[in-house]
Amino acid sequence: PVALYIVPTPIGNLEDLSSRAITILKQVSLIACEDTRHSGKLLSHFSIETKKIALHDHNERDRSQWIIQKLTNGEAVALISDAGTPLISDPGYHLVSQVRAAGFDVTPLPGPCAAITALSASGLPSDRFSFEGFLPSKEKGRADKLTDLKEDPRTLIFYESPHRIVQSLTSIAAVLGDDREVVMAREVTKIFETFLSGPVVDVLERVTNDANQQRGEIVLMCHGYRSPKLEGDEQAIPTKVMQTLTLLNEELP
Ligand code: SAM
Repeated sequence: PVALYIVPTPIGNLEDLSSRAITILKQVSLIACEDTRHSGKLLSHFSIETKKIALHDHNERDRSQWIIQKLTNGEAVALISDAGTPLISDPGYHLVSQVRAAGFDVTPLPGPCAAITALSASGLPSDRFSFEGFLPSKEKGRADKLTDLKEDPRTLIFYESPHRIVQSLTSIAAVLGDDREVVMAREVTKIFETFLSGPVVDVLERVTNDANQQRGEIVLMCHGYRSPKLEGDEQAIPTKVMQTLTLLNEELP
């Protein structure tokens, strides 16, 4: 059927392209790619010969009108990005909103997303989380952003560049506190997949002292803010007071 299909692609392991994704990518008349050369390798690996066009941040608005024209002509179109789920720190937002506004169906396929994949194995609370994309590259911007998030109780998920991981961990320690628990997921689904976890100062030290930890693709996650008052009875009531209460409790009728 005529629709814009949103198709996630692997984040490192080719086997993660679903069979439904392959079927759709073969059936549509056009695949809008973030980078046609980059996606060409994936598509040829799966013998997908569908016509490709580039859709990136710089031409997305113009291209959207052209794609709506294709849909109007009765042609189905798929959107992919370089890796993972389109629109998640990737192009596609303008296209999807304009295609919907024009009255066409937008059909999403489930599939790889670095943030969700990393979160699922992090050991951090996953009942509530906030995906924050990339932290600002300048120190002031980063500190301001982290200050806004400091008391957020949800698990925080960031995408991070290997060139900036040391600076970002340094900012997190400075703003969220040295002992904020973090998990750094690197090269997820690839040969050198690594999870480092612990208080941010410890992870910072390990990353600083090991150049290998400053390579590849990274999802950085932080435990949400833990209010001292909400930690349960033992934490909320100082030890001395607790001892006195226990004594009183024993003495009182
Ligand atoms: N749309 C993609 C998704 O659904 O995950 C994300 C695109 S964003 C431009 C690229 C960033 O995602 C990388 O800089 C890194 O932070 C993260 N990422 C992508 N693949 C990854 C992997 N295999 N392991 C860890 N992080 C990854």
